[in-house]
Amino acid sequence: MSFEKLNLDERLLKAVEACGFETPTPIQAKAIPIILEGGDVMGSAQTGTGKTAAFVLPILHQLITRKPVKKSVGPRCLVVAPTRELAQQVEKDATAFSKFIKFTQGSVVGGVSYGPQLQILKRPLDLLIATPGRLLDHMGQGRIDFSRLEFLVLDEADRMLDMGFIGDIRKIVAAVPEKRQTLLFSATLEGPVLRMAQTILKDPESIQLTTNQKSHDQIDQRIHWADDVSHKHNLLAHYVQTEDVSQAVIFTSTKRGADELVLQLNRKGQQAAVLHGDLRMTARKKTMDEMHHGKIKLLVATDIAARGLDFKNISHVFNFDLPNTAEDYIHRIGRTGRASACGTAISLVCRKDWDYLVSIERLTGSKLKRDLIPGLEPRSKEPKTRSTLGNAGRSWKPRRRGVPRRRVR
Ligand code: AMP
Repeated sequence: MSFEKLNLDERLLKAVEACGFETPTPIQAKAIPIILEGGDVMGSAQTGTGKTAAFVLPILHQLITRKPVKKSVGPRCLVVAPTRELAQQVEKDATAFSKFIKFTQGSVVGGVSYGPQLQILKRPLDLLIATPGRLLDHMGQGRIDFSRLEFLVLDEADRMLDMGFIGDIRKIVAAVPEKRQTLLFSATLEGPVLRMAQTILKDPESIQLTTNQKSHDQIDQRIHWADDVSHKHNLLAHYVQTEDVSQAVIFTSTKRGADELVLQLNRKGQQAAVLHGDLRMTARKKTMDEMHHGKIKLLVATDIAARGLDFKNISHVFNFDLPNTAEDYIHRIGRTGRASACGTAISLVCRKDWDYLVSIERLTGSKLKRDLIPGLEPRSKEPKTRSTLGNAGRSWKPRRRGVPRRRVR
């Protein structure tokens, strides 16, 4: 399959070529023809699968090949994404793909000043990318005209539900024209996401990527059993020094933990920076630019802050703490091994992470490789079965789908 076979406008194909893409990814090959035909799509695809191009390209094609519904202000396409970073990622991709066409876009996200957003909303726009909170804020003030809207995209819908945005999404859907094409992407298409999709989309085509996509075959996944946090620090220092790390993202479960880890790494002479929701937008942007330019080797991040991050040269992902959902594990390790490159994901697991490990192995359907470093072997043993868990393990309960969980931003 080649991009030429997808019947996209020549100018878009030129932009795809300029991006260095040679063949469509599976989600692109499946979704682009359906979207070009005007059908609603619900796709299960994570960041890293090429899903952004899978919806941006066919939408751009339709925007340039048909006239706007009405001459007024407001967007023709609205993309709603859970975080600023993901919104910026979509904006960046749309900029790249629209290089050879006349195209206007803007974003309304939280954490930045209102001034430029007010100006954007007074103009006719091809694409508006938004996070739910700020979008509703503008809608509440009557600042957005949706009368020209033809496309609605809900990106990472499962994440928006997890973050408690279900009510916001319903308000947004109720405010846009009923006659529209709607696309919904989510890591999983089950439970509340599926129920929401069924009420928002019309006769949608469901695109599910096969499970080997989830297993990330090109990523060398290992776990190292750790006695405690200080053992984890020693293990991380060892891996960072001995493995061939070009750039790494190190995940922690809390913002405080991320700050502490950066301090520890800096003390050990490692060049590390932090990314979490407490940082100002300008500080985050600076860190992201430095990552893109290879000036930072180790980025310590929380899950939410790292959503939608797309750095090409991540050789390693370290889970200093395991995430509390298996889906987050898949998202995290997907930061490495981008677009068919190889990558390494090393998780440092101690007793408090044990139940999470069990659920990750259940989701991936395989037991992750155990690694041992001579001189840094654990004194404690990994429990053999879940029944040997201590209180830490027993106190963890699987998250009930549909119940918003408090998240670190
Ligand atoms: P996404 O899943 O949209 O976040 O995309 C993940 C990464 O894959 C981004 O760096 C894209 O630029 C890249 N990408 C998307 N589609 C392709 C393709 N067909 N060939 C090569 N790289 C791609």
